[in-house]
Amino acid sequence: MADKILVTGGLGYIGSHCVVALCEAGFEPVIVDNHSNARASVLERLERLTGRSMTCYDLDIRNRAGLETLLQREPCSGLIHLAAFKAVGESVARPLVYYDNNVGGSVSLFDAFEAAGGGAIVFSSSATVYGEVNAEPLHEALPVQPNNPYGQTKAMMEQVLADMVRAPGARSQGLALRYFNPAGAHDSALIGEDPKDQPNNLFPIIVQVAVGQRESLTIFGEDYDTPDGTGVRDYIHVVDLAQAHVKALQALLGGGFEVPFTALNLGTGTPYSVREVVSAFEAELGRSLLQTLGPRRPGDVATLLADPRAAAEQLGWTAERGLEAMVTDAWRWAGAARQWGLWDEDD
Ligand code: UDP
Repeated sequence: MADKILVTGGLGYIGSHCVVALCEAGFEPVIVDNHSNARASVLERLERLTGRSMTCYDLDIRNRAGLETLLQREPCSGLIHLAAFKAVGESVARPLVYYDNNVGGSVSLFDAFEAAGGGAIVFSSSATVYGEVNAEPLHEALPVQPNNPYGQTKAMMEQVLADMVRAPGARSQGLALRYFNPAGAHDSALIGEDPKDQPNNLFPIIVQVAVGQRESLTIFGEDYDTPDGTGVRDYIHVVDLAQAHVKALQALLGGGFEVPFTALNLGTGTPYSVREVVSAFEAELGRSLLQTLGPRRPGDVATLLADPRAAAEQLGWTAERGLEAMVTDAWRWAGAARQWGLWDEDD
């Protein structure tokens, strides 16, 4: 029988792609999602995409008793934990909401998972744990020093997981995956990034401009110390990212690590500036996009680039898709989402 894997936040952008990758690898995903940032129709689209029925629980990870009942009914050998709030600005305005949901929720979830017998835990972390560091590319041995509450919650959750799996008698092993800038969508165009609120990230904002939902793109600064003056990031295709989660899970389940906790970067190591991303979209669309120049966004750094070597060595994983695929797939997904009226109204 296929191993069951609990996927918290399984209806979200990254979670839904992880669910597909798990199915393709022969696992049986058990989704937990409280629908705080996901549309109900994701489930149906996941079923269409995978050709199988999905097990999904409408549950908040802070509901310790609910998790316990669920894990009794659905014994899971692995956990991919993605459920979290993720808006940096909101985390500055409402830190306690972030600590409660992200840190409190993770403690409750890890506790329930360990009590049910433990297993392989893959935790969704972020490059934001490195903070405003002046190193390029970023490798895992750099200090963890996030500069906003959202990043703090990710760093704390890494620490919670590390301490938990190192405790005497612990039954779980843990791996934190530090994402750089996820982008793109599944090439079926059945799932993709679908923010319920106003997006803050470059890709969904460019898409909004391209579909006419937003007048222009504001470029946040062109006086950075980068080749064209705009911010440079390490964009990684969400399908590559999802596959890394499966590799991580397989490595943990196969007992592939000498230490109970590891943190790995997930990026490509290839730098792209804001202008280069915009140009790639313009090439895809065959038209130009209206841009205005704005001031730097507080908290932004000039360059964020992953050193992806540790993930390659330890998971046998490297990203296969480049910027062009991210743009093409994001645009194909936008076409489908608009056709279904997803972005006209709430479903
Ligand atoms: N960016 C921009 N305009 C926007 C949104 C983002 O110029 O409307 C820039 C931002 O300053 C950064 C890059 O795009 O250099 C990626 O930003 P995003 O918010 O997607 O990711 P993060 O800041 O987390 O790296």
